[in-house]
Amino acid sequence: MSDQNGLDVGAGVSGAVFRPGDYRAATWVRALADRIAETAARLDRPVKLMHICGTHEHEIGRYGLRDLLPDTVEVLAGPVCPVCVCDSNWIDLAIGLAVDEGVVVTSFGDMLAVPGTVPLRGEARGDVRMSLLDARARGGDVRAVTSIFEAARIASERPERQVVFFSVGFETTVVATAAVLLRGAPPNFSIIEANYYTPPATHLLPTLPGFDVDGFLLPGHATAITGTGVYRHLPEQGLACAVAGFEPVDILLAVLELLEQLARGRPRLANRYRRVVAPEGNLRALSELVRVFGPTAMRWRGVADIPASGYRLRPAYRSASAQARFPGAASATPDRVREHPAGCRCADVTLGLARPDACALFGTRCSPDNPYGPCMVSHEGTCRAWHLYGTARGRLRVETAGGSDAHGTV
Ligand code: SF4
Repeated sequence: MSDQNGLDVGAGVSGAVFRPGDYRAATWVRALADRIAETAARLDRPVKLMHICGTHEHEIGRYGLRDLLPDTVEVLAGPVCPVCVCDSNWIDLAIGLAVDEGVVVTSFGDMLAVPGTVPLRGEARGDVRMSLLDARARGGDVRAVTSIFEAARIASERPERQVVFFSVGFETTVVATAAVLLRGAPPNFSIIEANYYTPPATHLLPTLPGFDVDGFLLPGHATAITGTGVYRHLPEQGLACAVAGFEPVDILLAVLELLEQLARGRPRLANRYRRVVAPEGNLRALSELVRVFGPTAMRWRGVADIPASGYRLRPAYRSASAQARFPGAASATPDRVREHPAGCRCADVTLGLARPDACALFGTRCSPDNPYGPCMVSHEGTCRAWHLYGTARGRLRVETAGGSDAHGTV
C-alpha cells in the first residue's frame, strides 16, 4: 500500500488486520523523519504546527517524537483536553451539588481532581481551589466512574438518591451520553452538560491576537465521529490541516502532510488516518447525538466564550439536565480573571502561547501528585504529559519529604 507522499507505509500490514507494531516500525519512523527534514529544509523557515488532542500530546511525549523533528519544526499543544478547558462554573456547580444538595456526583477520575474557583479553606500553599475530591473530603458523595453507563447503574441501584453524571468530554464521549439518555435513564439521574465541540475552537484560534500557527493536526478519534468536513474552514483560513492517528507513523505522516501542504502553498483538508476515519464520520452515532443534543455557546476555560462549541440537551431531554433540576445550585464565576489560580499559566499553555516549562510552578508547586492548575490533572493535560515524559528536560524539581527542591534531571 503506497502512501501518497511516495512512502510505502502500508507494507507489513496484512489484510485488514491492524497491527500496532506496523505503525511503530523503526524503518518507517526513520524514513518519515528523513522526509520531514527534507521538506522542512525546502521550506527554509520556522514552522509551527498545533495539535488539539491530549492523546496526541501523550504519544508525542511517550515516543519522543519532537526529538525526531528538525529545529525549524515545532509542534505545539492547543486546547487538547476537555478536563483542562472545562468551565470552572461547571466544577463549582458539581461541588455545590455534592456538598450542599446531598447529591451523588459521579464523573471520570481526572475530572474529580480539577480545581474550580471556590477557595480551599485552610490551605497554606496559596491560591488553592476546591476540586470534587476536596468536596468528598468534606462529606460529599463523590464517586469516580469509568463511563456514564456505570453512573446510570448507580442511579438504578439507589432510586432514593439523586445521581448526577458530570458529562465532560469532546465529540467522542458525548455520543455515549446521548445513547444512555435516548434509551431511557433512571428518573433520579441527570447530567452536567460539559461536552465540547472542537471545530468552532479551531475556527476561532487563528483569529486571536498572538496566535501564530501554520497548520493543525486534527484528532483522529473525534473526526471518526464527526467526519472530516467539519474542519473545512481551516484551509479556507489559509491553514494546512490533516487528520492524524495516534501511532508514531500516523503522527509523523500527518506532520509530513502539513509540511508538504505548506511547501506547495496549497492548504487542504487531508485525512491521514483513513483506516479509521471516514469522510462522513459515524452516521449512526451522529444521528443519535443530534436527537439528544443541540449546539450551544460554551466557555472554554482560559480561552474564550465560543459560539456553538458545546452540546445542550434539547427540550425533550431537558429534564435530564442537572442545571435545570437544581436551579439553586447553579453558580457563576463573577470574575473570569480568576478562572485559574494565581501564577498558573494554563491559559497560555492551552493557546499554544507558552510551553508548560515556561510556568514558574511547573514541577515545583505543581506536579501530577499535587496539581495546582487544570493542565496538570488529567492524563490528557499538556503539563502532566510534559511532566510524565520529561519533555522539559532538566527543568523539573523534586519535592522531597524534607521540603528540599533540588533540581533533578529527567
Ligand atoms: S504547571 Fe501547573 S500551574 Fe503551571 S500552567 Fe501547568 S497546570 Fe498551570
